[in-house]
Amino acid sequence: MKNITIVGGGLVGSLLAVFLAKRGHRVNVFERRGDPRRTNVYAGRSINLVVSHRGWTALRAAGVHEAVERIVVPVHARMTHDRDGGLTRLPYSIDGRAIHSVSRAELNKVLLSEAEALPNVHLHFNHQCVEVDLDHARCTFRNDVTGSVASIKADVVFGADGAPSAVRQAMMKGRFTFSQTYIEHDYKEIAFPPNADGTPRMDPNCLHIWPRRLFMMMGLANQDGGFTGTLFMPHEGEFSFDTIKDEQDLLRFFEAHFKDAIPLLPDLAEQYFRNPQSSLAIIRCSPWTHRDKVALIGDAAHAIVPFYGEGMNAGYEDCKVLNDLLNAHGDDNWGTVLDAYHKARKPNGDAIADLSLRNFVEMRDLVADPRFILRKKIEGRLQARHPDKWLPLYSQVKFSDIAYADAWNEGLRHDRIMEQVLALPGIEERWESDEVERSALELLDTAR
Ligand SMILES: Cc1cc2nc3c(=O)[nH]c(=O)nc-3n(C[C@H](O)[C@H](O)[C@H](O)COP(=O)(O)OP(=O)(O)OC[C@H]3O[C@@H](n4cnc5c(N)ncnc54)[C@H](O)[C@@H]3O)c2cc1C
Repeated sequence: MKNITIVGGGLVGSLLAVFLAKRGHRVNVFERRGDPRRTNVYAGRSINLVVSHRGWTALRAAGVHEAVERIVVPVHARMTHDRDGGLTRLPYSIDGRAIHSVSRAELNKVLLSEAEALPNVHLHFNHQCVEVDLDHARCTFRNDVTGSVASIKADVVFGADGAPSAVRQAMMKGRFTFSQTYIEHDYKEIAFPPNADGTPRMDPNCLHIWPRRLFMMMGLANQDGGFTGTLFMPHEGEFSFDTIKDEQDLLRFFEAHFKDAIPLLPDLAEQYFRNPQSSLAIIRCSPWTHRDKVALIGDAAHAIVPFYGEGMNAGYEDCKVLNDLLNAHGDDNWGTVLDAYHKARKPNGDAIADLSLRNFVEMRDLVADPRFILRKKIEGRLQARHPDKWLPLYSQVKFSDIAYADAWNEGLRHDRIMEQVLALPGIEERWESDEVERSALELLDTAR
C-alpha cells in the first residue's frame, strides 16, 4: 500500500481521498484553508452546484452517495424569466429525470467527514503547498496559522488544488503545455431568502434563468427554501460590473433587466456590494501526470467555465476512472495507471471545456429564442419515439456516462441535422408530423 499526498481538500480532493483510502492506501490531504466544518471559509462564495448523472456514478462507486442524497434538491426543468416577468418552463428530460442542486459548502463538508471517518485518511487544514519536488513526490507545506514549514515525502502526489494549482505550477517548470483563457464575464453570488415561514419564493425544482444575451442571472434551490443566485456579467463595458458603482445604479439595472427578482431580494444592495466578484477562466494543460509520481485531477487539470454545470462532475469522473484503472492494473503499477489515466481523461477534459463554452451561448441567448425552443421540442419528440436513435446532447452530457468527447462529436452531428429540419417549409406548424420525424431519421442515417 502506498503513502499518498493529496494537495487540496476541496470537492475533488475529498472524494479522491475516499476512493484511495478504501483501496487501503494511507492518504494525507493538505488543504490551504481552514476546516469548512468549523469556520465559514465559503462566506459569500459558496455558489450552488448541480450534480449530474456521472457525478452520481462516481459518488456511488465511492460509497458516499447516500450522505450526498440527504443534502440535494432535485431540479427537473429550466424556468426562464423574461424581462416582463413571464415564465417558460422547459423540462430537462422527457422522462422526468432530474439533476440535483447542492450547496458547495455543504457538499465539501459531507465529503470531508466521509473521508475523515476512514482510519487511513488524515486531513491537515491551513496547510498551503508551496513547493513540489516531482521526481521524489515530496511536497513542502506552510502552516498558515503557525507559520511552520514541513516537507512531506509520499509515493504518489495528487494535485487536487483547483485552478491555481501549485502542483501544476511545479510541472510547468518542465516540458509542459499550458493555456489559460479568461472569458469577459465575471460572476457574483446573490442569495434569495425563503419566505418567513421557510417556504420557497420560486419553484424549487427548477433552475431559474434570466437570460439577457450580454449577461444573465441564475438561481438554484437550497434545502432551506432559499436559492443561491449567480449573476454573470462582463467585467467591463456597457452592461458590466464596472458600470454599477452605487445602490442607484444597481436598482436601475435590476428594474430594467431583472424586475421580477427585486421583491425576492430584500437585501440586494447589501449583498451585491459585500460579495466578491470573481473571474472565470479555462485552463488546458498537458501532460496531467509526471511518471509514476504525480497527477493532476479536477480543476487543476481542466478548469472550465461553469455553464454546463459539469466542472465538479468531470472531476468526480476523473476519480472514478482512476479507480477503475487501479482495479484493472493493480495498486502497485502506478506508472501504467497514471499514463492510462492521462490518455483516457485529457480528450474528455478538452471536450467538456468546449461543451461548456457552447452552453454559455445556449443559456445566455438561446433559451429565450423561439427557434431554439422549437428545436428542443422536436428533439424531445424524436427521443420519446426513438430513444435508441436520438439522445439530445444535453441528455448525453447530464444523464449518461457517454464520454464527453463522443458527446461533443454527436452534438455537432445533431446540429447539422437539426439545421436542415428547422429549414423545412412550415416547420412551426408541422413539427409534430410523421413527415418531419421521417426526414430527421433519414438525415440521421446519412449525416456524418
Ligand atoms: C459559478 C460556478 C458555478 C459552478 N457550477 C457547477 C455545477 O453546477 N456543477 C459542477 O459540476 N461544477 C460547477 N462548477 C465547477 C466546480 O466548482 C469545480 O469544477 C470544482 O469546484 C472543482 O473541484 P476541485 O476540487 O478540483 O477544485 P476546488 O473546488 O477549487 O478545490 C481546490 C482546493 O484546493 C485548495 N488549494 C488551492 N491551492 C492550494 C495549495 N497551494 N495548497 C493546498 N490547498 C490548496 C483550495 O483551497 C480548495 O479547497 C462551478 C464553478 C463556478 C465558478
